[in-house]
Amino acid sequence: MAPHGCLTCRRHSLTEAGSLDPEPALDAGYGTGTRHRPMTAVGPDLHLVAHLAAKTAAATLLEHAGHPDQRLPGEHALIGLRRQPGWAAPFDLGRTAELRWLPATPPRPGCPTCEAP
Ligand SMILES: [Zn+2]
Repeated sequence: MAPHGCLTCRRHSLTEAGSLDPEPALDAGYGTGTRHRPMTAVGPDLHLVAHLAAKTAAATLLEHAGHPDQRLPGEHALIGLRRQPGWAAPFDLGRTAELRWLPATPPRPGCPTCEAP
């Protein structure tokens, strides 16, 4: 199995492939962010994401404990919370609650998280 890159590697790979950077403000340096950021999710959105994250964690543990039927379809999941016409692939989900799994991307050279110090 090829090694998986971290979230930052994944975001850079998507951007280079012509997709979008879903959260470019996350890389703001310490002390340069805003104190309050508006929330755009409603309760059911948060529940949906939280339940998928919990199931993903449990399935990952069960697969490693010898239950191959718990294997997930990919390494990166997208959930359609609100359709955004015109968004680039793979963020071009067409329906609310649509779930799309994608493969991982390899670590990028020079990544401070993925490369050993
Ligand atoms: Zn990385």
